[in-house]
Amino acid sequence: MLRNIIVLLKIVPKPEEVVFNPETKTVDRSKARNEINEADKNALELALKLKEKYGGKVITLSMGPPIWDKYIRLGVAMGADDAILVSDRALAGSDTLPTSLTLATAIKKIGDYDIILCGEESSDGGTGQVPPGIGGWLDIPHVTYVSDIVEISQDGWATVKRTIKGGHELVKIKLPFIAAVELGSNKPRFPDFRRKRWAEREFQLKIWSLQDLGLEPDKVGFKGSKTIVSELEEVKPAERRKEVLSGDLDELARKLYEILKENI
Ligand SMILES: Cc1cc2nc3c(=O)[nH]c(=O)nc-3n(C[C@H](O)[C@H](O)[C@H](O)COP(=O)(O)OP(=O)(O)OC[C@H]3O[C@@H](n4cnc5c(N)ncnc54)[C@H](O)[C@@H]3O)c2cc1C
Repeated sequence: MLRNIIVLLKIVPKPEEVVFNPETKTVDRSKARNEINEADKNALELALKLKEKYGGKVITLSMGPPIWDKYIRLGVAMGADDAILVSDRALAGSDTLPTSLTLATAIKKIGDYDIILCGEESSDGGTGQVPPGIGGWLDIPHVTYVSDIVEISQDGWATVKRTIKGGHELVKIKLPFIAAVELGSNKPRFPDFRRKRWAEREFQLKIWSLQDLGLEPDKVGFKGSKTIVSELEEVKPAERRKEVLSGDLDELARKLYEILKENI
C-alpha cells in the first residue's frame, strides 16, 4: 500500500499564444490562455494508475499565482484527492533553484511521500532542472525520461521504464524517489462531468504562503536566484525557397538537374 503520491502540476501558457516583445525583450504571457503543462498531465495519469494498483493518496502541488486555481481544479477533476498551491508575491522572479527549493519544502510539509512525479520539462521554462533539483533538496534518488512505473515490490523498490536512444531500459529505484515523466507516455483520462462540477464548485484548494513553509523571503524570488536572463532573441523559422519551372519535359529535366547540382 503506497502512502502519498505527489504530482507536480505547472500551469503554462498555450505555446502558440505566447507573444514576444522585441522592444522589452521579454515574453508576454499575459494575453495567452493557460493550461496544465502537457507532460504533467501524463505524470498525473501515471499517479492515478499507481493509486488504482497500489492504493495511496494522489496530491497535486503547484507553485504559482492564485489565477492558477481553476486549472489546478482540473487535476482534481481528473481524480487527484487533494491539491496544494504555494503562492506568495515574494516568489516572483524565482529561477529553478528557489522553485525547486520551495516545492521541496512544500513536499516535506505534506510528508509521508513514497513517489513524486513531475513532467520531464515545462513547455515555457523548459529547463528540466526542477525534478532533479527537488531530488537534491530532499536527498532522495531521481530518475528522468520515465514512461512507466512497471512494478512496486513489497520491500520498497520500484521498477521503472525509462526511455533511452533507440529503446528503453528498466531501472530499479528505492522508494521514496522522484521521477520526471515523459511527454506523451500515456493518455491522460478525460474528467468525469459530475466530478468536474464538484471540483470547480466545492473542492477546497489549499493555498500555502512562504510563511506557512517557514521559508525566508531572501531564499526565493530574484534574491534567491543565481541566474539572470541577459538576452532574449526570437529565432524565426527559415523561409522556404520556391521556384516554378516551365518548359517541355526535356527542358524541365535539364533545369531541375542544374538546380540540384547547384544545391547538393
Ligand atoms: C534564468 C531564469 C530566470 C527566470 N526568471 C523568471 C521570472 O523572473 N519570473 C518567472 O515567473 N519565471 C522566471 N523563470 C522561470 C522559472 O524559473 C520557471 O518557471 C521555474 O523555475 C520552473 O522551471 P522550468 O519551467 O524550467 O521547469 P522544468 O524543470 O522544465 O519543469 C519540469 C517539471 O517540474 C515541475 N514544475 C516546474 N515548475 C513548477 C511549478 N512552478 N509548480 C509546479 N510544478 C513545477 C512540473 O512538473 C514540470 O513539468 C526564470 C527561469 C530562468 C532559467
